[in-house]
Amino acid sequence: MSGRVWYQHPSQCWALGSVAEAQGTTVLVRDADTAEMTELPLEDPKSGEASTHPCDPSHMENLPDIAMMNNLHPAPLLHLLRRRYLEDQIYTFTGEILISINPYMDIEGLYDIPDMEAGDVGEFFLSQRIPHVFTVAERAYKAMRTNPLRKNQSLIVSGESGAGKTEACKRIMQFLAFLSEGYSSRHDDRAAASGAGAASATATATAAAAAQATSNIEQRVLDCNPFLEAFGNAMTLRNNNSSRFGKFIKIEYSRGAIVGARMRHYLLEKARVVSPQSGERNYHIFYQLCRGADPATRAALGLDSAPERFRYLGSGGTTTIPGVDDAAEFEEVVAALTDVGIPAGTQASMWRTVAAITHLGDVDFVPGSVAESSAIADAAVVERVARLLGAADVASKLVTREVRARTETVTVRLTPAQAREARDALAKAAYDRLFSWLIRQANRCLESDHHSSAFIGILDIFGFEIFDVNSFEQLCINYANEKLQNLFNHHIFVMEQSQYASEGVDVTSIEFINNQPCVDLIERKPAGILPMLDDVCRQATRSMNDDKFKTRLDQAHKGTHRFYGSTRQHNEFVVAHFAGDVHYRVDGFIGKNNDSLTQDLRESMQSADDPFVRLLFCDDPAAAAAAAAAAAAAAAGATGATGGAGAGGAGAGAGAGDDDGGSGSPTSPVVTPLALPTTPNPASGSGTAGGGTAGGGASGKGGRPSGPQTIASKFKRQLAELNDTLLATAPHYVRCIKPNGKKLAHDFDLPRVLDQLLYSGVMETVRIRRQGFPFRESFGEFWRRCCAGPVGGYRSLVPAAASVPAPPEPRYTDREDPSTRATVTYDAAMTPDVVETCRRGTELLCSALLSAESFRMGKTKVFMKDGCLETVHRLYSAT
Ligand code: ATP
Ligand code: MG
Repeated sequence: MSGRVWYQHPSQCWALGSVAEAQGTTVLVRDADTAEMTELPLEDPKSGEASTHPCDPSHMENLPDIAMMNNLHPAPLLHLLRRRYLEDQIYTFTGEILISINPYMDIEGLYDIPDMEAGDVGEFFLSQRIPHVFTVAERAYKAMRTNPLRKNQSLIVSGESGAGKTEACKRIMQFLAFLSEGYSSRHDDRAAASGAGAASATATATAAAAAQATSNIEQRVLDCNPFLEAFGNAMTLRNNNSSRFGKFIKIEYSRGAIVGARMRHYLLEKARVVSPQSGERNYHIFYQLCRGADPATRAALGLDSAPERFRYLGSGGTTTIPGVDDAAEFEEVVAALTDVGIPAGTQASMWRTVAAITHLGDVDFVPGSVAESSAIADAAVVERVARLLGAADVASKLVTREVRARTETVTVRLTPAQAREARDALAKAAYDRLFSWLIRQANRCLESDHHSSAFIGILDIFGFEIFDVNSFEQLCINYANEKLQNLFNHHIFVMEQSQYASEGVDVTSIEFINNQPCVDLIERKPAGILPMLDDVCRQATRSMNDDKFKTRLDQAHKGTHRFYGSTRQHNEFVVAHFAGDVHYRVDGFIGKNNDSLTQDLRESMQSADDPFVRLLFCDDPAAAAAAAAAAAAAAAGATGATGGAGAGGAGAGAGAGDDDGGSGSPTSPVVTPLALPTTPNPASGSGTAGGGTAGGGASGKGGRPSGPQTIASKFKRQLAELNDTLLATAPHYVRCIKPNGKKLAHDFDLPRVLDQLLYSGVMETVRIRRQGFPFRESFGEFWRRCCAGPVGGYRSLVPAAASVPAPPEPRYTDREDPSTRATVTYDAAMTPDVVETCRRGTELLCSALLSAESFRMGKTKVFMKDGCLETVHRLYSAT
């Protein structure tokens, strides 16, 4: 293999070749496939990175875990992923992180649950260390059941749009449901079999109740999917079923069985309701309702089976999704809503609201008879909206605004442009509130009276967004990703550092890119981008505009903050995100951050005749309860439902405004901060990571803001809460990768994947490992490796070691690492005596064959620099 290298290929990122000639500062490489010759400088002039990297025998193996690779480097990692992907092995571990690559096709048998005895957790996926989402789910479940220190778990699923996050989350939930069902049925059997004593009778009753609750809850969690997707997903250029909101589901457990669940959502994309981009659709539900409602309902709502007739639905230029039948999906949505207990009457109210929003898009304005005023172009359309919402004054409120002075109220006329803005604001607010209400209904049906002792949280959240034009929405999304990256860095870095510490291995300096300054640039008061935006939004709006906001940002950060930059474009600023530089255009920042619905329209909705509309717009909890009761009564009346129909139904469900109330995040101790020796990395703008910086600077918690809440302040508060919740759990990471931009199967675009590996932090973990002793193996496993093979294996190279016996066959089991609190799989065959024998063998072999600085004996593991194993292997092959 000597002379084989990975080399920087002009279009393939890295390719395999062999060095034909090396002269001075350049090297001539022959491609392994095409035999084409390429001359390269020894180092990439831009990055300073070596343009070739030695190829190790392990680079050619199909490894299920990248941590098993010797001489780790992005090149073999990328090629391993490609090779596995093309063979339909979409999952690969890199240490504890699972990489998942969207196959864009159904892989036969991939999600079959094998014939494992239900409830025997850890017996299948985990014990065989199969890279799979089920393994991660199983690991989380098992850790929750067996780990007294850190019960709560989180599965953090991230990746760009279309990478497969939502699919992964669904699979995880299905598997968790399976584990829980298995557990409760076994538990039930055992309790029933254990006799008739008073204690066991109670146990039987409890188990039976838990089992019943369980089967309902699991099914209900899955039942919510159709309607959450109908209202929260849309067809975009990147994904035909793109989730346009972030979601965190907390699955609550008691004694291993699911007893309840809670859901939170983040940043529903409101702009889509009024202006889907070219080639994209509005939210699915609009098209489903138009095509799926029965003719009578459709007529009553004034809808049409051709949704392109409506401006909000047709302006993206496309209304169908290949292979999707909107009418059939509508039926599913109705069934799901019914299953979770939303009565028909309430569903009718929902459809009226959706229809009203649809018609709002067709309300247009012309200049009025008085200068600077407007009139409604088509009275019939706005009347329809007014009727559907039960708000007769909506027409007048769309074209005027009341300005309250100290002693009198003045009615100001709106220009057509202002009136259009008010109209769109109403449509967005109505949809946003409808969605929040729906999430509350889902939560009401998922909550239970059972006491839960632990939870597994599943986070499905949008990855970094870097578009040609980036706006306020991208800033929020990228801010969320910086926060998550911060948590990830902290976790991975602490894990790495504490491994060395607990093994008593001295590693002088490990660098990592600390993105805390970037998080601060966005969120920290007073000069962070979002706090400054909030300030500007609070000020008298007339004298303030987006450009002035940009000037203020420049004054605060330009030339002084290394994560902030400015371009020649006067309306752009740049943030050096972890994933790369992002240019943000400030136009519209102020408007988007302010909840721009006029006070008048809000009040109009709050006093609408339709109790459902009143409920949606109610911001006062006491009034919300009354509105909920009225809505429930009206809904029951509307369908002529008998008393029971509305029970647990959705007409109720007060809880005004914010849907993120409820259980506060647990405050159990967070990861123990360590004093971490770091050296700054000037190229990447790293900084010293003082212990426990992750999650630092969390603000906006506690205490309600006094003024009207801006989008930024609400999101900041939500993220701080999420961060606290996640910090108090043991995290498990799934990094989803989108293999190509064409939604195609078996198509692996190397540069694209490399980019995603870079900004998902996977490469960073590889880099961190390489700085220390990237190869580490327990004495037992290493010694087993040394004893395998013909003529006695590697140990035969060292006479003193040759007589040290091999360990017995492994028996894998799980436990928690006390220092990192992460779940680790261990081999039960490794008794202290066996380990001691293996340690002796390892030390004899390493000190005879390797230089002293290239390996370390830890307490339970041997640590090696890159290339050591190759050295041993070469010596062995030569014998
Ligand atoms: P977004 O951020 O836009 O919501 P996402 O990461 O949630 O994107 P998904 O909706 O999960 O992406 O996946 C996009 C599409 O890719 C799915 O609709 C499905 O067609 C396909 N897909 C994803 N994962 C798988 C899988 N494991 N097996 C088969 N197809 C998949
Ligand atoms: Mg999704």
